[in-house]
Amino acid sequence: MHNKTLTELAAGLRSKQFSSVELTQTFLQRIRQHQQLNAFITVSEETALQQAQAADAALSSSQGGVLTGIPIAQKDIFCTLGSKTSCGSKMLDNFIAPYDATVVANFNHAGAVMLGKLNMDEFAMGSSNETSFYGPVRNPWDTDCVPGGSSGGSAAAVAARLAPAVTGTDTGGSIRQPAALCGITGLKPTYGRVSRYGMIAYASSLDQGGPMTRSAEDAALLMQVMAGFDAKDSTSVEQPVPDYSASLNDSLQGLKIGLPKEFFTAELDSHIAAAIHAAVAEYQKLGAEVVEVSMPNLQLAIPAYYVIASAECSSNLSRYDGVRFGYRCQNPEDLSDLYTRSRGEAFGSEVKRRILMGTYALSAGYYDAYYLKAQQVRRLISDDFKRALADVDVLMGPVTPSTAFRIGEKTGDPIQMYLEDIYTIAINLAGLPAMSIPAGFVDGKPVGLQVIGNYFSEAKLLNIGHRYQQVTDWHQQVPKGFE
Ligand code: GLN
Repeated sequence: MHNKTLTELAAGLRSKQFSSVELTQTFLQRIRQHQQLNAFITVSEETALQQAQAADAALSSSQGGVLTGIPIAQKDIFCTLGSKTSCGSKMLDNFIAPYDATVVANFNHAGAVMLGKLNMDEFAMGSSNETSFYGPVRNPWDTDCVPGGSSGGSAAAVAARLAPAVTGTDTGGSIRQPAALCGITGLKPTYGRVSRYGMIAYASSLDQGGPMTRSAEDAALLMQVMAGFDAKDSTSVEQPVPDYSASLNDSLQGLKIGLPKEFFTAELDSHIAAAIHAAVAEYQKLGAEVVEVSMPNLQLAIPAYYVIASAECSSNLSRYDGVRFGYRCQNPEDLSDLYTRSRGEAFGSEVKRRILMGTYALSAGYYDAYYLKAQQVRRLISDDFKRALADVDVLMGPVTPSTAFRIGEKTGDPIQMYLEDIYTIAINLAGLPAMSIPAGFVDGKPVGLQVIGNYFSEAKLLNIGHRYQQVTDWHQQVPKGFE
């Protein structure tokens, strides 16, 4: 059961091959069996089984949609009414959300079953899941290695078949990078396509939720539920939601692919480069044309991002003051002691580093030199994409410079960790959609191909992913021990 696609699971439920309760129990059992991966922060066994019973009742009277009765799991950044929403932090270890995020409400409305909440880097800051208060997640392909981050629990859970499909969020690469390192499919939608209401804010002008699944076909089903206008999110875009599954099989004849030459430099592992070129050649067989493009400002993406994301997070995280919710220190002497000790004791070192960088960049006298400058660079990067995407339909390149690295390998050097996102961050600065799909293995570890499209081209990206997945089987490989 755990190796079936969402479409197969939906068909199985409808034809009564198995019930949602049976399906849910199967995945709960697998989660228990593979606890050593540390993919989940919370497993919601009781409520999951209740939801499954309700789904079975709906299915037996032929009600419900494609996702009715299908178990999924949520990154622990999405607020879930009545259950713990920690965002990977000691600060929110005691936080029971008083409402559902719009994404969560949408899944509930669709009749999906929530298995639990997935481990992640603290407040989504990280590229390896090692900043989580709940400890690192292990990569199912090599349990000594990281799964990527910040949606590391999400990626590991899908790769290890602990959940058929899950959610993630991507501020600078957190859907695509872990998807690549764990050999799954991850889609970061256009900024504003998926509601951020109830999704705990890291850097609000960059954050975007999206699906993490085994295939593009499955991602289309999740996008159908996740996407849409939400009046509760002021940056949500009022745009009709297409039928994401309808165009999956469209022909790729004449598709114009741009390869940004700045993506293929010395930092890129040569075996990954070879895998990307092989994937591009597969697209040529499917009728695509390939041209080289140049995006001269891409190299500025990392410094610009770390100024902007840190500035925004320093503001967003000022709400955690020990007063209204979250962690509070013991016996504060006065208000100032309450603030400083609560924050000092509950935030981890990476979060503190970002808050310090952010408050510095925003402070009087430095604002123009850092924050304003970074915003100007952001515009240059957007313009690079605009120019490139005027001539081609999509851009392709790697997701990560290397495959999954060992746990502990980069924790001592934040700059090395920041460079993990060298190929993903610019896309967030521009607000574009991009997808990572499995495109091979190097030394037994997965490689991801990144496909970047124009604004609101998610249906096209999924089509491009699906056609590739029909002629390759990288996405069907299962890590040893998790078959
Ligand atoms: N690794 C990047 C960071 O630490 C991106 C994280 C994300 O996309 N949430 O900020």
